[in-house]
Amino acid sequence: MTAIERPPLSSLACVNSACESYGQSGQDNLTVRKVYGKDHIRFLRCHHCGQEFSERKNTALWNTKIPEARAIDVGRHLAEGVSLKGTARLTYSHKDTVKRLLGRFGHHAQAFHEQTAQQLDIDVLEMDERHGYVEHKAEQCWDAVALDAESKFVVQVEVGPRNEQLIDSLMRQTHRRLAHPQDLVLMTDGEASYRTLFPVIFGVPYLPPV
Ligand SMILES: [Zn+2]
Repeated sequence: MTAIERPPLSSLACVNSACESYGQSGQDNLTVRKVYGKDHIRFLRCHHCGQEFSERKNTALWNTKIPEARAIDVGRHLAEGVSLKGTARLTYSHKDTVKRLLGRFGHHAQAFHEQTAQQLDIDVLEMDERHGYVEHKAEQCWDAVALDAESKFVVQVEVGPRNEQLIDSLMRQTHRRLAHPQDLVLMTDGEASYRTLFPVIFGVPYLPPV
């Protein structure tokens, strides 16, 4: 595996929340102080506040020892729905490493989705529940998912027991991401709570698909 090409400095930002340039890329405030490790991770300095920090700070790989190329390989397998065991075998990684990365990637992806999936321009939405399990087959749970019917973009996922509260939370979390939730067509599997909750949360009548 070869080292990953580092992203341009203009795409990175200061991690000091007290800095005037916190979280803003392209401010021309960062320089490289030194480079460390096999992946040539850069240690940066912000000239607006003087803080020095690793370019990995606040990323999913902060404080991991695993080579970046392998971490990305693990992430790609997990994103395709490969199991923990399967991913461990295919990437020559320990199962605990895969599990730890899954947790980190998940939290990071959730924060990224929260920041970017806003004001979505969606006309037809699909809502569905899938049955699954967490960790062991004994821990049964449901995934409730809201998708853009056209692009299949995942707008929202909620996990829990299959009840009205799950659908309620899926609808409320989806509603706040939409640019025009009042002109929406909703397609569902016909679960009764959609019919009762949709008018309450979206303020428009529910029309079952024909
Ligand atoms: Zn700064």
